[in-house]
Order: sequence, then structure tokens, then C-alpha cells
Amino acid sequence: MEAPVLVLNANFEPINVCDMRRAVGLLLTEKASLVVNGRGEIKTIHHSFPRPSVIRLQKMINRPRARLKLTRREVFRRDNYTCQYCGKKTTDLTIDHVTPRHTGGKHVWTNVVAACPSCNHRKGGRLLGEANMHLLRPPAEPPTNANYLFGRHLSENMEWETFLIGW
Ligand SMILES: [Zn+2]
Repeated sequence: MEAPVLVLNANFEPINVCDMRRAVGLLLTEKASLVVNGRGEIKTIHHSFPRPSVIRLQKMINRPRARLKLTRREVFRRDNYTCQYCGKKTTDLTIDHVTPRHTGGKHVWTNVVAACPSCNHRKGGRLLGEANMHLLRPPAEPPTNANYLFGRHLSENMEWETFLIGW
């Protein structure tokens, strides 16, 4: 029941990813309809119903375009799993606040980068200039297109791809 399900708005705009339990609930209460069933069936004693991969809400909901939450995982993905100081690609990464928090640096996309532990240690609580270190590129908020927003699920859910294009 852990598999992610892509939720489309009534106009087919991808708006969310939910878990299987929630998706099945939306289908059973007819708040959503099945768009892609790529995962066989869920069987109970009396019923069997399709395991959804993509569902579509029956009623259009109005909401602002989804934005990515600032999480460690998303910062590492944005920075392509690469230390933004030395350029090393690694799974052993930390979050560095470019302007340290104790000097007023905020926890925002434009002030956080992926850093390997040794670069993070070398920089310490200092500003770039003080540490004489340089960024590969200035940190920015990631793109808000659907392909990027939901892209981390794509490798396991290739059937989503056609629903993400163009949004
Ligand atoms: Zn590094």
C-alpha cells in the first residue's frame, strides 16, 4: 500500500502524489476515477479492485501550483548529488547554509546547498569570502514544472511520463 499514486486534477493537470490507501479511498467514494492501472489488483475476501497508478479527480479543484518542499532529499536532487564546493558526486552529503544561520542566513532554497562533509567542515560557520570558498553555481529554487516536481518517482513509474509532459 506504499506505492505512490499520481493524482490528476479534473483537467488532467498533475497536482499531487498520494499513497495507495488514499487513492483507493478516493476511487471507492467516487471522488476520483481510475486513469492507469499498472499494478494488478487488490483482493479482499469479497472484492477485487484495480491497484491504481494514476487517478483523476472528478471535480476540478483550484489550488496554486505545487511547489517543492525544502527537504534534504530535494536539495541533494536539485544539486545533482554533487558537493557544490568541490564538485564531488557522492551520496554522503550534508546541507550547508551558504550564509550561516547564526549570521542571519535563512533556511530557503537560495541559501542552502549540498556539501560533502569535508567541505562543510572546512567552511565551518563562515561566509564564503571568509572561508575563501566558491560555489559551483548560485543556489536557486528548483523548477516548478510537473516533470521536475514529480520526477523523483519517474524511474519506478514510467507510465506517469505522458501525464507530466507540458505541465
Ligand atoms: Zn566537497
